[in-house]
Amino acid sequence: MFYRSTRGQAKNYTFEEAVMTGLGPDGGLFIPQEIPSLPTNWRQAWSQYSFQQLAVEILSLYIDDSQIPRADLTKLVESSYSTFRAEDVTPLFKVRDGLYILELFHGPTFAFKDVALQFVGNLFEYFLERKNSKEPAGGQTHRLTVVGATSGDTGSAAIYGLRGKKNVSVFILHPNGRVSPIQEAQMTTVLDKNVHNLSVEGTFDDCQDIVKNLFGNKEFNTRHHLGAVNSINWARILAQTVYYFQAYFSLLRSLNIDPASAEADKINFDFSVPTGNFGDVLAGYYAYRMGLPTNKLLIATNENDILYRFFASQAYEKQTGEDGGVKATLSPAMDILVSSNFERLLWYLARETGPSEGNAEELCDKAGQTVNGWMKELKEEGVFRVADKAVLKAREIFDAARVTDVETSAAIRAFYEPKNTAQTPYVLDPHTAVGVAAAEEYIQRENLKTYPSGPDVLICLATAHPAKFSEAVENSLNSVAGFNFEKDVLPTEFHGLLNKERRVTHVERADPQLIIQVIEKELREEGISF
Ligand SMILES: *Cc1c(COP(=O)(O)O)cnc(C)c1O
Repeated sequence: MFYRSTRGQAKNYTFEEAVMTGLGPDGGLFIPQEIPSLPTNWRQAWSQYSFQQLAVEILSLYIDDSQIPRADLTKLVESSYSTFRAEDVTPLFKVRDGLYILELFHGPTFAFKDVALQFVGNLFEYFLERKNSKEPAGGQTHRLTVVGATSGDTGSAAIYGLRGKKNVSVFILHPNGRVSPIQEAQMTTVLDKNVHNLSVEGTFDDCQDIVKNLFGNKEFNTRHHLGAVNSINWARILAQTVYYFQAYFSLLRSLNIDPASAEADKINFDFSVPTGNFGDVLAGYYAYRMGLPTNKLLIATNENDILYRFFASQAYEKQTGEDGGVKATLSPAMDILVSSNFERLLWYLARETGPSEGNAEELCDKAGQTVNGWMKELKEEGVFRVADKAVLKAREIFDAARVTDVETSAAIRAFYEPKNTAQTPYVLDPHTAVGVAAAEEYIQRENLKTYPSGPDVLICLATAHPAKFSEAVENSLNSVAGFNFEKDVLPTEFHGLLNKERRVTHVERADPQLIIQVIEKELREEGISF
């Protein structure tokens, strides 16, 4: 299996190259050159598999044995998910008949990004160790310096994914005083030698600009071998496809339905996914393209609704306004201007609704050119438009909904104190609440009959534990008699977190040169020579 770039200028990259470089040389994102199909007997063969066993089967369809031997892949998977608190890694919770919550937040930082980043950290270490073992005695040591900017969630998940990994140093920039206290504590209380938190005077955008500047600085990049863990890394998408399969099997097991039976075929599986950079829902798209029975993937956005507007207008258009157009909402991990992973879906739309004359390779190259053109327009004019048939094609599997802060808060309240007595109370975090509100709107709009009185089952992906976003949860529930955040929501792991020892370097100006000095000083202190 080889990988190509969505912008058409690069192909035949191995999995290792795609993962270690992150972004294509033409600025595009890596996609597999074919989407593999599932083995014919997958429903019977996998029906009782654990998350880890499913992961090995699915990942090995994209990673050849020559890239990572199966025994090694198994070890990587086992160690990646041994850090999760839930036995089935991503358990499914039944709220009521036909409505389920897939809990993706049982990893070390209590957010779904752990599912991918625990694996990515181990992959980096594995590839580096293997490369180093092939060097002659006294040869060079291959290392990676991961540099990233965060407004909260990605930073802590990256730090927990990379802490203590051999030959990897990680620097995470966050805007000083603009990250929630829990998130700041999660990042800065990790004391491993290879973890460096930089608290920068400035905004999140300033931090992000510095990171871009460092990646564009050839000399600095060559000296330190910069690596990225942002959501465009292919390995992150791949790791996330696993829980769609896991959800499918868990649901059928809980209903006592054999996946290979006619009864299973009658069910419509709908997934509602709180969406920002489009990584999570894109993983569902790959699962569907591989052959997982899927009726609809519901893209749930907050008021930063570029994706929702795309489906309504065929135009992919940046919002403008104060703060560069990004609106601060109750679900900050979804506050985006553009969705970086959407480019991957655009490639498939371009390929499948574009020209049809020519051989397969030529058509793939044309799709790359089309995407390249769209991205250029987006950069220069802030908008591009696609043809009707591209949106129609996308609508075959996707639907979209936009959820306001008021609706998010109302959903948190409605799920904590359900009117329907057959519904089990549940505390939603604000991101999950966006997905759940979108699912309820979709059920109403489409007048769906949910299982068992009809065919539809909605699975809402829960992307964070409610304790991570205490303010939104408390504000939504503090008028409910008897609600007690500490008792009802706060996990024991968070007790005392705010008072633990921290390690963080304050950087007084958002200046790339200053950041370079800090990074090099701390690398020397870590014992690294360059
Ligand atoms: C990152 C994140 C999202 C958005 O996921 P994408 O893959 O970027 O669409 C949603 N919720 C939470 C809590 C997140 O951390």
